[in-house]
Order: sequence, then structure tokens, then C-alpha cells
Amino acid sequence: MTTASASVPVLVEARSEDAGVLIPPFFSMHDRDGFIHKPSLRETLREWFGAVNFINYPNRTLTMLNVLYHLGTFGVFIAYISAYFSIPSAIYVSFLSTYLVTLYNTVWFHRHCSHLSFQATKVLKVFFLWTNPFFFREEIYVVPHQVHHRRSEKPGDPYGPHLGWLGSYLSIESNQKYNTQISREKYEALQRSLQHVGFPMNSFNDFKKYGSVEKVPHYLLRTAVSQGLYCFLSYLVGGLPAVIYFYAAVFLSVFLIRDFNWRGHGGFNRRNKIDGWEFDPQSSALNQKFYGYFASEWHDCHHLFPMSAKSGFLSSQPDLAFSVILFLKRIGFVTNYIDSTQNFNNFSNVVK
Ligand SMILES: [Zn+2]
Ligand SMILES: [Zn+2]
Repeated sequence: MTTASASVPVLVEARSEDAGVLIPPFFSMHDRDGFIHKPSLRETLREWFGAVNFINYPNRTLTMLNVLYHLGTFGVFIAYISAYFSIPSAIYVSFLSTYLVTLYNTVWFHRHCSHLSFQATKVLKVFFLWTNPFFFREEIYVVPHQVHHRRSEKPGDPYGPHLGWLGSYLSIESNQKYNTQISREKYEALQRSLQHVGFPMNSFNDFKKYGSVEKVPHYLLRTAVSQGLYCFLSYLVGGLPAVIYFYAAVFLSVFLIRDFNWRGHGGFNRRNKIDGWEFDPQSSALNQKFYGYFASEWHDCHHLFPMSAKSGFLSSQPDLAFSVILFLKRIGFVTNYIDSTQNFNNFSNVVK
């Protein structure tokens, strides 16, 4: 493994599934023979409604706010299609969506927060936290994602084709059910696994009360600031229509991120790997051109070397997110990063 500088700390994992940090679905995750269980529509919806039931579980209120935000942006997206659509605006929304997904999903949520594939300065962390456009907590991305890598397509994998498209789409909410009855030691392990993200953390008692590792006022304040900032900048660019374009791009981005959790591991499509293009023997993750070009998510390569800040190892796999990380390194906001290209080349030569 090649590193840009000598010491890149290894991500401390809470091993969420072992620690019981997340409450598992109410339905069995495997059948009598031990194979993974695909939930029915009824099970999927019951699980989701339980996850957003803030009346019976007040510490799920933030999850419900995520849903309302997603529905709100869906409403704006419909308004955009029906009243504001034009070819130039569609190009603008597409570019904006590529920017949002590449920068916030791939660089921030995925490569930094989930895998610590590069070290960010405090200033860069503050920038990402206070400009996160998705109204979606970093910790809720990270904790299930670490389980996903340990259990890809096995019982306990929090998202993927085995849940069906809808189950995987709704898993964003279903995976937010923290087990607030965990021990203090397990909570401290969870805190350590999120320390590199850079937000102020709740005490053990406040975690039990609010179901959030991040201090809730901090989360709400930074979210309000980022939403205000994007509205202000969009309005400066083009008045109300540009604000509409921004929220249409947010909806499109989140829709595609949710869809990717299903499609990135095959979905309804092929499960077989293409020789010379996909290499990971442990999962059915695929290198799909759309998600590769759009979000730098060459997912088969990523599953092969998940700690790498670069996933597009082949010359035909552009990796815009890695270019962003290199740029941030050049201007001093990234101090070091992991690049597994040499390991990949060695591996792919062996399997040829
Ligand atoms: Zn995956
Ligand atoms: Zn990952």
C-alpha cells in the first residue's frame, strides 16, 4: 500500500454489529437454511415506519426530519420538472448534482468519514460539516457502512439487493435505529470510531436521550447554516429559479445515493463479474460506468481496497473524487492519503 506520507492512522471500528450499536430489523435476516432473507413489502414498510416513529420513540425525531426534508426536496423536484424545466437548467442541475455527490457523498461521507482514506485538517472538516447540503448526519452514513463492508450480501448487511429496491432505498431511515441501551464502554468505542469526523459529541446520558453521538444543537445549527448558505448563493446566481434548481439537484443526488446502495451490488442486473474490469472475489459489487463517471464510485475496486482514497484503478476509470483529494493535498487541507494503486496492480497481475 502506498501512502503519501509515513503515518496514516488505522480507522478504529466500533464493530457495530457485534456491539449491538444498531437495532436489527424486526424480521429475521436469514431463512431456516441460513440463506439471506429478502423481506416482503409488508415487512419492509413495517420496518421503515418503526424507524421513523418519533411519537413512540422521541429519539427518532431527527430521522423523521430527514424524511420530511427528502419529501420536501421531492416536491421541489416535481415543481422543477413541471414549471421550470429547460435544457440549460437540466445541464445546470446535472452539474450541480455531480458536484454535490462527488464532494459530499464520495469524498466526505464515504472516503473520509467511513474509511479514513485521507487525513483532513480541522479547517476542512469544519468546511464539510457546515456546508453538508443533505440534512443527513455523517454518523448515520458511517456506522451502517462499516457493517456493510464486513457483511456484504450476508445476513446483517444493512443495505443491498437482498432487501429489494424499496427496502434498500428506505434503509437510510431503517439504519438510523441506534440501540440506546448499549453499555458505556460500547458507547465510548462508538465515539472513537467517529472521532475523526470532527463534531462535538454527546455524553453517554445524552446519547441515550437523543439517539445521536453528535450534539443535536450543533447538528441543527450547522444544517441551518448550510441550507441558508446554499439558498443565499443560489439566489445570487439566479433568483428563485436557481433556488429551485438547487433543491432539485439535492433530491436527484439523494435519490441516486439511495439507489446506488441497491444497484452498486447488482440490483436486478448482472451478478457476474467482467474479466479484466471487476476483481473483488468477496462481494458482488460492480464497476458501473454511470456511477463511476457521476460519483467516482467504482464499487468493485472500492470493495477490493476500501481504505484507498482512489478507486478508479484502471486508466478507463476516471476518479474525480481522487483528483479533488489530490488538489486538497496540494493546497494543504489534506495532510496524507492512502493510494492502493500499486497493490491493485499486483493483485490484478496475479489473477490474470
Ligand atoms: Zn458495497
Ligand atoms: Zn465503502
